[in-house]
Amino acid sequence: MHEKIVGIMGAMPEEIIGVVKLLFNRQEVVIGRRTYFTGTINRIKTVVVFSRWGKVAAATTVSTLILTFNITQLIFTGVAGAINDALKIGDIVIAKRLVQHDMDARPLMAQFEIPLLGKIYVDCDEQAVNIAQQAVNDLLDNKQLHNIISSTELALFNITKPKFMMGDIASGDQFISNSNNKNAILKNLPAVLCVEMEGAAVAQVCFEYDIPFIIVRTISDAADEQSHINFPLFISTISSRYAIEIIKNIYGNAKFFLLF
Ligand code: SAH
Repeated sequence: MHEKIVGIMGAMPEEIIGVVKLLFNRQEVVIGRRTYFTGTINRIKTVVVFSRWGKVAAATTVSTLILTFNITQLIFTGVAGAINDALKIGDIVIAKRLVQHDMDARPLMAQFEIPLLGKIYVDCDEQAVNIAQQAVNDLLDNKQLHNIISSTELALFNITKPKFMMGDIASGDQFISNSNNKNAILKNLPAVLCVEMEGAAVAQVCFEYDIPFIIVRTISDAADEQSHINFPLFISTISSRYAIEIIKNIYGNAKFFLLF
């Protein structure tokens, strides 16, 4: 059987630092201005890398993971802006489908359709979504959450009982930080839960190469005029710690390694 090699990408360098520490027998390889950290986690070969920001950067990084490091499955974590009003800072979104909200080749094809693929949405593998759900559920289970983040730290961001939602994530080469842009996404793609800058590009590449993937995003902002406020503190205090726990939980689930 084909050897399992897991790729882990983080959309924030701070997330990567924590995950890299989980690697046993760690080595580094620099390719194209990215540092790929290789090693094992729970004896599974693993490659960890910072995606860099935006669709082109993230697509390039995941292509290298697939073609140079031969990964067989991918986990991608990061932060995102809430589009659905029910989502609060500190909540988590698990992607079921991804869409590029800035893809528009009209009148050649429908708005949002990916040229040549003939589809608007890239679907996540159902099994992979279930594994992500289990991992996030275990994290948000009060005991695990409070073990990694103190109540005082959670209170800094008014986080009391974070929840998760599963559904559509939209990606584009824009940091959404005003209500007009946010409402435009909501109007055209009403089912979208949150917005970020990489996920749909990574999903497209994984689809094309037949690599199962999990994409999990922590809500860092409401994609409005306050989006950038407290961003670095949120990453270091909340989302980077979520990412480590989610990855540990996924590695603890044997089903993840049966995906491919
Ligand atoms: N750390 C940088 C900001 C990076 S923001 C700084 O402090 O200047 C870019 C990252 O945040 C991307 O990974 C993107 O996917 C995500 N993101 C979070 N909120 C977003 C929003 N409202 N719109 C778009 N991307 C968002």
